[in-house]
Amino acid sequence: MTDSRTPGTDKETGTGTGPVTVLGLGAMGTALAQALLAGGHEVTVWNRTAARAEPLTAQGARAADTVEEAVTASPLVIVCVLDDAAVRATLEPVAATLADRALVNLTNGTPEQARATAAWAAGHGAHYVDGGIMAIPPMIGHPGSTLLYSGASTAFEAHRVTLERFGAATFLGTDPGVAALHDLALLSGMYGMLGGFLHAVAMVGTEGGKAAEFTTALLVPWLRTMMTALPEFARQMDAGDFGARDSNLAMQAVGFVNIIEGSRAQGLRTDLIEPMRDLIDRAVAQGKGGEDLQGLISLLVPGASGAPDA
Ligand code: NDP
Repeated sequence: MTDSRTPGTDKETGTGTGPVTVLGLGAMGTALAQALLAGGHEVTVWNRTAARAEPLTAQGARAADTVEEAVTASPLVIVCVLDDAAVRATLEPVAATLADRALVNLTNGTPEQARATAAWAAGHGAHYVDGGIMAIPPMIGHPGSTLLYSGASTAFEAHRVTLERFGAATFLGTDPGVAALHDLALLSGMYGMLGGFLHAVAMVGTEGGKAAEFTTALLVPWLRTMMTALPEFARQMDAGDFGARDSNLAMQAVGFVNIIEGSRAQGLRTDLIEPMRDLIDRAVAQGKGGEDLQGLISLLVPGASGAPDA
């Protein structure tokens, strides 16, 4: 097999149709490979379980028999497997083949893992870019899909047009850990919202309320309205300005008791909402009852007075 290590064409031509390798063909890796095929790329794929490549070869991808064969097929190698351990298991045996290639890791991980993999890849001459996918597989290549990147800026720019096949590409800086940090922060926001959604639907369900009707008619409009307050909350956090304007914590602590007791009276578990109640109570006990909710941020920072580990 030929070793095509010619640079990607993105930067030079802006067309971005150079050869690309995708390692990992789960739901996400398959969607990534499909977006590349749709963009006219020559796509080489590899997956630990070889049979998962079959739908893609039917769509025009070439399946490599080994990771080495896949890596050496393209100057741009994208890896999207389950976790960091799977990334290492896939790449470490072929480390010597990574030199001078752009290695874009779209596997979800921590900032620490990204920095360690970047150092490891640089030690083998690869240009490492870490990425966080803010989309689910059906969104890849469609409006609304955003991917966060950080790491080797030259490699990112060289392949930006190709990476934009997946969705909007936001480069956050040369620290390889910063994309993962923002990815996990955004996922935290999402899971907070989903936890509230689950609890709210469960409450209404105790009286026979239908999830779909409640969600569409009441919950989504309410959450949309509340979301418009977040930029101002954030501005106050940046300014360290926690003085309550409309809704002080002492009042919210009392209201939260009603959420907990009302939920229990309906026979529900309160696991999803108790941590927030605990934080509010702790703040009030520290004399912060006159502050606004955004003041709770100080209790989440290790070492801050009243933080869980302080
Ligand atoms: P899947 O569970 O569908 O696929 C997992 C993939 O990882 C498979 O290709 C699997 O190979 C491979 N894998 C697991 N362990 C190993 C190993 N030890 N060595 C080699 N390959 C291994 O997951 P997704 O494709 O959905 O997710 C992939 C990544 O994308 C994850 O990090 C995920 O967090 C991230 N992501 C996923 C999103 C989603 O909605 N799906 C959204 C955003 C990010 P095999 O087929 O052989 O088991």
